[in-house]
Amino acid sequence: MANVRLENITRRYQNVTAIENISFKIPEGEFWVLVGPSGCGKSTIMRTIAGLETATSGNLYIGDNLVNNIPARQRDVAMVFQNYALYPHMTVAENLAFGLRMRNVEQSKIQERVEAVARSLSIDLLLNRKPKQLSGGQQQRVALGRAIVREPKVFLLDEPLSNLDAQLRDDTRAELKLLHQRLGITTIYVTHDQVEAMTLADKIVVLNRGIIQQIGDPHSIYAKPANRMVATFLGNPAMNILPAIYANGSFQVGHQSLACPPSIQKKLQPREGQGFDLGIRPEHIEVFPKSTTENDDFKSDLWALEKVPLEVEVKVVEPLGRETLIRVGLPLLDGETIVQVLIPASVRLRSGDRLTVQLDFNQLFVFDPATGEALYP
Ligand code: ADP
Repeated sequence: MANVRLENITRRYQNVTAIENISFKIPEGEFWVLVGPSGCGKSTIMRTIAGLETATSGNLYIGDNLVNNIPARQRDVAMVFQNYALYPHMTVAENLAFGLRMRNVEQSKIQERVEAVARSLSIDLLLNRKPKQLSGGQQQRVALGRAIVREPKVFLLDEPLSNLDAQLRDDTRAELKLLHQRLGITTIYVTHDQVEAMTLADKIVVLNRGIIQQIGDPHSIYAKPANRMVATFLGNPAMNILPAIYANGSFQVGHQSLACPPSIQKKLQPREGQGFDLGIRPEHIEVFPKSTTENDDFKSDLWALEKVPLEVEVKVVEPLGRETLIRVGLPLLDGETIVQVLIPASVRLRSGDRLTVQLDFNQLFVFDPATGEALYP
């Protein structure tokens, strides 16, 4: 086990900057996930740590050692890629043993380690099979086993689950977490899948266009995203973004007006009359049949709850089983925007229904529309 430290790592290819000024320190034994959309630089960071790429500038430390000029095979890191290639002519046992043989480890020791790793991954009954006699999930576990058996200081996993079908991916994800709890090897995991990031990570590093957007534990990143990109990337279905103008203590969304709680007013006062992006997660919007808000008593209750009504039209209804996702059209000055809302499965709606939705202002985010920076909370 070892800690891993990146100091201002930049990697340029001719005129493309793949990653810029990447700095973080992963304490020994932690599980960190690098997440972001395709092309954000995740694999470049991973390959730089593995020694398969050379940084244009910056320093990389594994443990106390500066490893910038240390070749990959001497770095004591093990990497599993999305396209893990098992040797097809070798059995599972031979595949697991291969890396140790190449390092001239004693035969008795090899057998001992292969058996232990196979047991920990529940592939011990498959040791005599060839890869083509295994399911995708079993093959993936062998690929993981082949990396673990070397007892590396650092474990690098680059989209290791993306070739598996949904159910198997969920199961293998949980197995990986258990495995990490048991072995405690410092692990860096790359994915574009925010669910994997949230479920696996001690810390998440969110990347966009080669730049770190935010580093934090899953709960704090979800609760307090640094900017609109992070806010909309983590969470499924994604956070809604509504363009609004702040004036006279209210947000104008299209022709509709939302009274703003004092805490938000205080923050936005200096920017009276300007545009903002409001962020609200689909689980923080409530829906009511349109007719209910025509009742004034009901309306005054809503203000007390710091919730404000907006009138919308249902476009698409997607039952998910435990709950239902609806997409509603919210009129803007030019056209409309689609807002996703999660509602209880018991509420039956149809495309074309007109509704009132209420945003929970205790769960509202406000972003600068130009920079995306989070301004509230
Ligand atoms: P990710 O793993 O997040 O999908 P990558 O690290 O593979 O992203 O790539 C980051 C950026 O660097 C992308 O814009 C990609 O096109 C660019 N890039 C990666 N490798 C090369 C290369 N060998 N030559 C030129 N550009 C590259």
